[in-house]
Amino acid sequence: MKLFRFNGGRIGVTIGNDSWDLTDALGIDIHAWPPVQMVQLIARFDERMAGVLEHPATRRLDMATARLEVPIEWPNKLLAFPVNYLKHGLEMKSVNRADLNGFFMKANSSLCGPNDAIVLPDLPDREIHHECELGIVIGKGGRNIRREDALSHVFGYACLIDMVVRGKEERVMRKSYDTFCPFGPWIVTADEVPDPAKLQARLWVNDELRQDANTRDLIVDIPSMIELSSSVATLYPGDIIATGTPEGVGPVKRGDRVRIAIEHVGEMTLQVR
Ligand code: MN
Repeated sequence: MKLFRFNGGRIGVTIGNDSWDLTDALGIDIHAWPPVQMVQLIARFDERMAGVLEHPATRRLDMATARLEVPIEWPNKLLAFPVNYLKHGLEMKSVNRADLNGFFMKANSSLCGPNDAIVLPDLPDREIHHECELGIVIGKGGRNIRREDALSHVFGYACLIDMVVRGKEERVMRKSYDTFCPFGPWIVTADEVPDPAKLQARLWVNDELRQDANTRDLIVDIPSMIELSSSVATLYPGDIIATGTPEGVGPVKRGDRVRIAIEHVGEMTLQVR
């Protein structure tokens, strides 16, 4: 199923060709602060979803009326792996590599949704790059999760663009500007992704194909990313892991359109402002 946020924090689901607004049936207060409603739902997903489609407050949803928003607004953590495809390491002449350097973090507040714009900071002499990535959403949290158990901790997947100002400042700062982590357009639950290690991921800027790679070429694969990150920090439901970018990163400028599409996951197009 596809799980999404829309129209001001409402929560909906698509199963096959049918969509529903679950907000009232789940008793979700869209005005609650902090906005952790999706994290809370993921944490007790099976229990809260049991029988929800038959609940009298569940409404059919016409997706043409739904303006999708970032599916997880306030995760506990947004972890990201650096250079995680050999060819991207070569193009960046980078000694930073996921298998050598582990992960870093982006500010949670850099997350934005499929209908938001990527807003560039006013840094006219700097290059600001797109990085096309698969986003992992943790379902069952844990510490010291073993590789062989890792995929059972995955709730689902989404498209993720890791935006970055190239340069020498601390990476966490260059990657943490507001809107620098487009994420969505929804979360596809793990059961709908036949093999996360065989997903073609593509990114276009203004219809020019810039990145085109397959997750089979990840240097640190998904189970190892979960094993490594949970060896350092407890993973919580709703945590997001950006899996690292392949080759083909490049600059964007105001007025560009950035489109990301990942097989079995979805696609979204964002304007750059
Ligand atoms: Mn990245």
